[in-house]
Amino acid sequence: MPETNQIQKDVTIIGAGITGLTLAYYLKKKNVNVAVVENADKIGGVIHTLKKNGFTFETGPNTGVLSNPELAELFEELDLVELETANEDSKKRWIMKNNKFRAIPSGLIGGIRTPLFTFKDKIRILGEPWRKTGTDPNESLASLVRRRMGKSFLDYAVDPFISGIYAGDPEKIIPKYALPKLYNLEQEYGSFIKGAIKKKKEPKTERDLKATKEVFSAKDGLEHLVKALGVSISEENIYLNCSNDKIESLERGFKTTFSQNNETFEIISQKVITTIPSFELPNLLPFISSDKLEPITALEYAKVVQLVLGYNNWKGIKLDAFGGLIPKLENKKILGILFPSSIFENRAPKDGALLSVFMGGMRHPEVIDLKDEQILDIAVEEVKNTLKETQDPDLHHVFRYMHAIPQYTITSPERLSAIETIEQKYPGLILAGNIRDGIGMADRVKQASEISKNIIV
Ligand SMILES: Cc1cc2nc3c(=O)[nH]c(=O)nc-3n(C[C@H](O)[C@H](O)[C@H](O)COP(=O)(O)OP(=O)(O)OC[C@H]3O[C@@H](n4cnc5c(N)ncnc54)[C@H](O)[C@@H]3O)c2cc1C
Repeated sequence: MPETNQIQKDVTIIGAGITGLTLAYYLKKKNVNVAVVENADKIGGVIHTLKKNGFTFETGPNTGVLSNPELAELFEELDLVELETANEDSKKRWIMKNNKFRAIPSGLIGGIRTPLFTFKDKIRILGEPWRKTGTDPNESLASLVRRRMGKSFLDYAVDPFISGIYAGDPEKIIPKYALPKLYNLEQEYGSFIKGAIKKKKEPKTERDLKATKEVFSAKDGLEHLVKALGVSISEENIYLNCSNDKIESLERGFKTTFSQNNETFEIISQKVITTIPSFELPNLLPFISSDKLEPITALEYAKVVQLVLGYNNWKGIKLDAFGGLIPKLENKKILGILFPSSIFENRAPKDGALLSVFMGGMRHPEVIDLKDEQILDIAVEEVKNTLKETQDPDLHHVFRYMHAIPQYTITSPERLSAIETIEQKYPGLILAGNIRDGIGMADRVKQASEISKNIIV
């Protein structure tokens, strides 16, 4: 019988995505003895950067938003990674209407002239500050936007953005859970416009100002962020290629068992923090009954296909924007196209272009089952039609995610309450990751930072 390797730690973290790694980093900084247990053969979770033929591209998330100081501080602290913010001339965002990309207006004149919204809604928006405050905490995003801003804002601003961030459906997304800042603007100030103006005027600390809201990546790719975290945590605390991991609740603390390279490991720790997707929890936590986990495993995920296209010598229209999003009403299989080589430096050869085309989502889940060639054909056709590039790409890669983005829908209150009940029943067990507190990379870092502050061992 092979021997079991027994290890004592203060905290065991399950999952080495950005949440698990950031948690481990902050805990280690506090001299907490951590172990990170990961199924895959690499750290980073969905964050992964590849380099090929002069292109540097992401297989998962491409960009994040510097929406909280925690993320800025993480970059400041880590030596081996440099924050990169978006180029100035990639700040415009395009939305498709009638088969043509149009820039989202920024000023008043642009707002009056834009063909994206109807004249009626442009006038209607002037009355937004005086509209009644909503009272249903489970109101959908679509209903909230229709009520306060009008249908054309829903169709040609919010719908494409929700597709861009959540690959989601605004009729199902609940702002209280998915977009709490927006929800709170209405609840606290009675209006998005009034709230935004008041918030802008509020005094800010030096720390608050670190949340610049800029679009970010890491210089040379997001992988450098997870690698820098990995180095700080130190290899010997990260267990890769683990299988059959299971947690047992002990009288005091927890036992995590797993296999790695034909060896069995047992980690005894006071606390265990999970950062893995909801559907992985039942196997990991066999001591929790399925009915207690059911509200958590009911979490739905959008399926996403990301197609990376590289052009050595771009001859299409000038890509002086962040990218283009496509509203549902345009009836396309594509959700949006990002222009990473316009946003960040050195992502494509000089005069070339790198595009990331997103497909599927809650709108077209069936796309995930298409063959690579079919996905490529759809995307290249769209690039030819709308971005006017007649050549075929010099590089293409398809990445599929069956469980890309969790959808914070009407099931959210029950899920959050089930998480709370389980955590209360088993003190020391924390269910984290993007099953709660936001799906963006900045949300993940913030959650990890907050949890780490509350851990006392
Ligand atoms: C295609 C795509 C595009 C995205 N675009 C953006 C974007 O532009 N901007 C943005 O901010 N966010 C984006 N996101 C969301 C963001 O990337 C994720 O929410 C975030 O990276 C999740 O990090 P995590 O550590 O919580 O989870 P994950 O990255 O999923 O990491 C979880 C880890 O747990 C491991 N694991 C799973 N089960 C087990 C188990 N039983 N035992 C041990 N290990 C296990 C997995 O292998 C994985 O490494 C995108 C996500 C995807 C998929």
